[in-house]
Amino acid sequence: MIIHLKPSISDTRAGEIADKLNAFSFKKEGKYVLITGASLKEVPVELDSEVDESWPFDNDIQLASKTYQVEKRTVKIGNVEIGGNTNNTILIGGPCSVESEEQIRQSAELLKEMGLTSLRGGCYKPRTSPYSFQGMGLDGLKLLAKMRDEYGLSIITEARDATHIDEIIEYSDVVQVGAKAMYDQGILRACAKSNRTILIKRGFGSTLKEFVQAAEFVLSGGNDQVVLCERGLRTFETSTRFTLDLCGVAWLQEHINLPIILDPSHAMGLAYGVTPLAKACVAMGIDGLLIETHPNPKVAKSDAAQQLNHAEFKEMLKQVNPVAAAVGYKMV
Ligand code: PEP
Ligand code: MN
Repeated sequence: MIIHLKPSISDTRAGEIADKLNAFSFKKEGKYVLITGASLKEVPVELDSEVDESWPFDNDIQLASKTYQVEKRTVKIGNVEIGGNTNNTILIGGPCSVESEEQIRQSAELLKEMGLTSLRGGCYKPRTSPYSFQGMGLDGLKLLAKMRDEYGLSIITEARDATHIDEIIEYSDVVQVGAKAMYDQGILRACAKSNRTILIKRGFGSTLKEFVQAAEFVLSGGNDQVVLCERGLRTFETSTRFTLDLCGVAWLQEHINLPIILDPSHAMGLAYGVTPLAKACVAMGIDGLLIETHPNPKVAKSDAAQQLNHAEFKEMLKQVNPVAAAVGYKMV
């Protein structure tokens, strides 16, 4: 249950009520917001006079639910707003991994030239094999920060586990919680306490409910800057890397108040499919696209097969622009 206490309730009293109900609590627009498990269906009568409004739920999708807040939340990716009633579809581009200063600078220059604002690149890579390239770590984060300073781009980079989450929070504008990290509560709780935007990727074997509950970990800590990212599920099909769940996107749009970004690169796993999929995604009226691009995909140290080269990336945006316009959105 979500409970809004009356604005007159003091910090001490709000703390007492939260303890009594075993609830999460944070202050928003001068009022305390308390969140208990969904098993609580009614405000205890003795608290009636201290409660402004309350929302019972039949499951633990609460703060993210449109039952609580029907308007889509507005979230900042650097200086760009998505969600709300912005009708912006942000295009986040950049390589799978930061590999060298020369490589990430070429990516930054590409985005700048195209008028885009957000650069992605992994420094702590959640690789399936310990023998694969694991990312440049802190040196990579410093390169990203340099690109932010020199090109004015916002930085999105992923957390692999909780050991380096403080570094990621320090160096990024948007913390990406990867598909494999979606259940990592150390990461989610640290994100909840940060003032960064958090992009949560759906685990490739996760239900929509589990996906949104990961977001609830962040929201219930008082950080409302959360974006969901669909990046494909594992199915029986092996011809493509994963299967992009557009049905799931339609469900999220109907029931969930968080902006949604789609990642056709990881879903398809093959560069030739990324542009057609990007068009299909944008046609749904989404808040963003995350697309991997590399100056020379053939030599990429991770996800080589799916990254667009720079010419393909530009062509992709050219093809996607009219689709966005047709559904009343604007690529930014
Ligand atoms: C990535 O964005 O490079 C990545 C590893 O994504 P995911 O967590 O979706 O596999
Ligand atoms: Mn990748």
